[in-house]
Amino acid sequence: MNMRACDLCGATDFSPLPFYYLFDGQRLQGTRCRSCGLAFLDPQPTPAQLEKLYGKEYFTERPNYDRTQPDVQFIEEGAALDLSQPRPDKFVDYMRAHYAGRKFRYLEVGCGPGYTLKSLQSLGWTTHGLEISAHAADYARRVLGLPVVTGNIETTEDFAENQFDLAYLGDVLEHLLSPAAAVRKFRRILSPGGLLVLALPSVTNLPSMRLGFGAYRLLGRQRRMDLPPYHLYEFTPRTITKLLEQNGFQVVDLRNPVKPPAHIRLGGNPLEQAAKLATQYPTYWLNQLTGRFGDRMFVVAENVGARRTRPLVR
Ligand SMILES: [Zn+2]
Repeated sequence: MNMRACDLCGATDFSPLPFYYLFDGQRLQGTRCRSCGLAFLDPQPTPAQLEKLYGKEYFTERPNYDRTQPDVQFIEEGAALDLSQPRPDKFVDYMRAHYAGRKFRYLEVGCGPGYTLKSLQSLGWTTHGLEISAHAADYARRVLGLPVVTGNIETTEDFAENQFDLAYLGDVLEHLLSPAAAVRKFRRILSPGGLLVLALPSVTNLPSMRLGFGAYRLLGRQRRMDLPPYHLYEFTPRTITKLLEQNGFQVVDLRNPVKPPAHIRLGGNPLEQAAKLATQYPTYWLNQLTGRFGDRMFVVAENVGARRTRPLVR
């Protein structure tokens, strides 16, 4: 009898996926809800364990900036950047292409030292940030003069109802203890019609992963993951759509690209590497043709609040 309920549908009937983590003396099993298909770790790390997990090592592994170094690092880096115009990235480019001229009241969740946030003020946006690293948040406040809150979206009480009409989470949602509770929080702090934009991985959606899971299941084997358990959830286009629509949002765009073959990281044993190599070109072209089976998702959803949502047919 499992005491935990699925974050997405509330069901308690789960089946194991063929991977697990060993963390802090505990086995965290890859698990899938039998009723809605959501994939997650069971049990989850505790909040205290997560705090340890997001200590120094996590932030020093980040390629773009070291969030544990004193502010001097940010100041040196930031001084070299031109923040007087928007810094191009996937999110900024998308918003400028699809919502040109709209002046948003914007919240960036996981804003780091705030470079992108600052640069977006040149579009006339009002910018707020939320950042778990105290160093980075402090730099954003003190040097860039940005209203950035230190903390995480699950516990912060710093934002008011209808305070924003755009929020962006890049690689954040899959790290949270309850993505559903976070989405419901955005329903409150975003205005009616406000936009929630998510970028996140969907690696379990890849044909090579589906094949791998099938093979491991067939062989009755389990793979021990070598990374710490950063991702508490793995979403697919289907489960992310369901999560948003059950908590007051309507998906208006969902892109599911795949990394170009040259950028795929080869991990695992020789058999797994061979499987990845053998499927990466077919996967890439299948994705180019169909827009499906990708390992990344970019999702734009509109806050429809209490208004009845119509499930998106896919
Ligand atoms: Zn479920």
